[in-house]
Amino acid sequence: MANEKISPGMQQYLDIKAEYPDAFLLFRMGDFYELFYEDAVKAAQILEIGLTSRNKNAENPIPMAGVPHHSAQQYIDVLVDLGYKVAIAEQMEDPKQAVGVVKREVVQVITPGTAVDSSKPYSNNNFLVAIDRDRNQFALSYMDLSTGEFYVTELQDFAAVRSEIQNLKAKEVVVGFELTEEESHILTKQMNLLLSYETTAYEDLHLIDTKLTELESQAASKLLQYVHQTQKRELSHLQAALHYEIKDYLQMTYATKSSLDLLENARTSKKHSSLYWLLDETKTAMGMRLLRTWIDRPLVNAQAIKERQDIIQVFLDQFFERSDLTESLKGVYDIERLASRVSFGKANPKDLLQLGQTLTQVPVIKAILESFAAPELDKLVKDIDTLPELESLIRSAIDPEAPATITEGGIIKTGFDERLDHYRQVMREGTSWIADIEAKERQASGITTLKIDYNKKDGYYFHVTNSNLSLVPEHFFRKATLKNSERFGTAELAKIEGDMLEAREQSSDLEYSIFMRIREQVEHYIQRLQHLAKSLATVDVLQSLAVVAENNHYVRPSFNDQQIIAIEEGRHAVVEKVMGTQEYIPNSIHFDAETSIQLITGPNMSGKSTYMRQLALTAVMAQMGSFVAADKVDLPIFDAIFTRIGAADDLISGQSTFMVEMMEANHAIQRASAQSLILFDELGRGTATYDGMALAQSIIEYIHDRVGAKTMFATHYHELTDLSRTLAHLVNVHVATLEKDGEVTFLHKISQGPADKSYGIHVAKIAGLPNQLLNRADHILTDLEAHSAKLTEEIVEPETLVPEVKQAQTQLVQEQLSLFADEEDSQVLAKLRETDLMNLTPMQAMNLIFELKNML
Ligand code: ATP
Repeated sequence: MANEKISPGMQQYLDIKAEYPDAFLLFRMGDFYELFYEDAVKAAQILEIGLTSRNKNAENPIPMAGVPHHSAQQYIDVLVDLGYKVAIAEQMEDPKQAVGVVKREVVQVITPGTAVDSSKPYSNNNFLVAIDRDRNQFALSYMDLSTGEFYVTELQDFAAVRSEIQNLKAKEVVVGFELTEEESHILTKQMNLLLSYETTAYEDLHLIDTKLTELESQAASKLLQYVHQTQKRELSHLQAALHYEIKDYLQMTYATKSSLDLLENARTSKKHSSLYWLLDETKTAMGMRLLRTWIDRPLVNAQAIKERQDIIQVFLDQFFERSDLTESLKGVYDIERLASRVSFGKANPKDLLQLGQTLTQVPVIKAILESFAAPELDKLVKDIDTLPELESLIRSAIDPEAPATITEGGIIKTGFDERLDHYRQVMREGTSWIADIEAKERQASGITTLKIDYNKKDGYYFHVTNSNLSLVPEHFFRKATLKNSERFGTAELAKIEGDMLEAREQSSDLEYSIFMRIREQVEHYIQRLQHLAKSLATVDVLQSLAVVAENNHYVRPSFNDQQIIAIEEGRHAVVEKVMGTQEYIPNSIHFDAETSIQLITGPNMSGKSTYMRQLALTAVMAQMGSFVAADKVDLPIFDAIFTRIGAADDLISGQSTFMVEMMEANHAIQRASAQSLILFDELGRGTATYDGMALAQSIIEYIHDRVGAKTMFATHYHELTDLSRTLAHLVNVHVATLEKDGEVTFLHKISQGPADKSYGIHVAKIAGLPNQLLNRADHILTDLEAHSAKLTEEIVEPETLVPEVKQAQTQLVQEQLSLFADEEDSQVLAKLRETDLMNLTPMQAMNLIFELKNML
């Protein structure tokens, strides 16, 4: 390419492309957007469009591909959905008037984090995240460009940053600092994020509050800079960056939220069978998004929770008013997104109609809320701004039948603008006025054949045959002479003709400019509209929670600050909904103030996980302000929920199940406080029996002695149930089974005390394994049990174990234990040194660890 002569047009392309190397450049040429070089080759493949070349006969033809401008959006959507950026270069002058190459400029860069998808009315938030750091910590800011929401916070470490990005389901991150190789690997390879670097801060005193920390304003300003750089247009709908604190909400990592199936079912990645699916009876897109936020961020402030509960209670108590309310919300459009379309200059007449329709509905909603006559709703009612001026502006200006286009007329209502009304009257009645003139002049002149005709050249004219020329009145003037006739005009006819022509030519333009004026006026209301959107969304979510509470017979939970958990006949709300109330067996959950750990034993498939999740889900629902699935519930307010549930391999990050298990356990015990809730399901299962059990026990003890968090620990290590003898704050519970005539029934009912045995072979039977195999397993089990009884009586000779295996195992236990080790303790070391490891039975080893632990 270097030696070839480049045309000025191509040079312009290359110059622009050089500024946007990381984006597909769509280069407007007439009715097409063209792509060249690599972009063309790649786009042709992805979009399945034809690949041609620009100068076919040249030695090195330039690859070229194009999409028609009117259908470009769908192609852009595909690219952006796949995680690419697309830069749109438009023609900035009329090609007919251009001297030389038509001026072109990039008018917008569409990126995964800035895509404003208006084609899906019920779409979720699309958050763009920016991160920054100083010596001590990180700042994270995020924004949804389609709604204008803008937030910022400080985070302690990169793990928290990662978790927050996952929580926000962001696709793109604006990075304001130099990432380490590892950080970059995590963000791009593991999390599959598109990274965009931004080092310049955008100064905007309106949006960046001086109360933010310096680091926070840096992150937020760089986010703003990036958004302005890519959008290159008015963004008056952006809201001021709002500071938030992770600790103002019930903290859960992404893994926890996902294992609890909060926003989607982890197994299917679908809404169905998630908490969101259960609670969603919202009627508006804004309500739907807010419900997701509430689920994602349950509260920790008792008063704020109570306020939500109070309103739900009112909605439950007054069924008829609430039904009206639910019904009235159906006429509410997504004004949050409509407001941003106004700001982007994208709102069309149909958008304004939807806005108007919603505003007409707002006083109705407000009146219904007032009809409850409940002081609990006062704040909500007061917060609803009906914006009557805007409503009447839209109602009086926009024709209810207006199209979605803004250039073809038919937008503005008659009566709104005098000039437009006149044009319309002329267009509508012009021909009949001409007929009137014709009749009038015929009568006055006495020319019985006098008629008015029209052609392009002469316009409207009186047609007079030569035989009648003598009768032509004074005020007629000649327009044209033909062989047998002449054409005349009059001042009156010319006036109407002129008016009709002007009306035809000007009325669409006039409508366009009136519409633009109205849109500008609407823009002044953006902030109030956003505020209204929030209020309506809140009403919607609360009515949704009330409807769900009523349909499923939920109760209002109470909260205590004595660390007591008391759930009577509780249910896992989602499992119950999926399987049906008849089938589901409720379970009560009790932790008195003194109990911190419940050790749950019981067969596989008996319902241990369900029981544990029931507690977490009940806590999440309660702290969102929702009612809960039980007969009676009293809970502490948890500050965080930690889980290690299921054995989801983190294949992508290349970590083994066991490693993930240990990392999650570590995260939980390091971060949890006495106010937290921990759920550990089958912890330690991922490694060999003894070190797994040793770890499980030491983790339990650590939580028991040092953390004090309310903990549910499900395990198949029966040996651990003995811990209740030594750990004062631990209790055993188990899932009851019924054994009759060799058949086992799982009752899914939790009872006090430890389980007596496990029922693995029974589960294998349910799973349909061949009888022959099951019988053999039974035999082996009997043998093993007998053998193990013998072993505990005798001292196992360590020589009977392969020394390398024994050593490797011991080392592993020690390494894994060091995950939780404090500083070295000479006493413990001394004890370890004097112990002859090679002469210990496994049971003695366990006891030794226990003893060491106590010494610590
Ligand atoms: P594993 O140890 O194999 O993980 P588990 O003991 O944790 O099993 P769960 O996964 O909680 O068992 O439950 C197994 C199945 O039992 C669930 O899928 C559900 O269908 C049923 N089940 C659990 N709890 C109940 C309940 N309270 N009422 C009715 N059915 C239940």
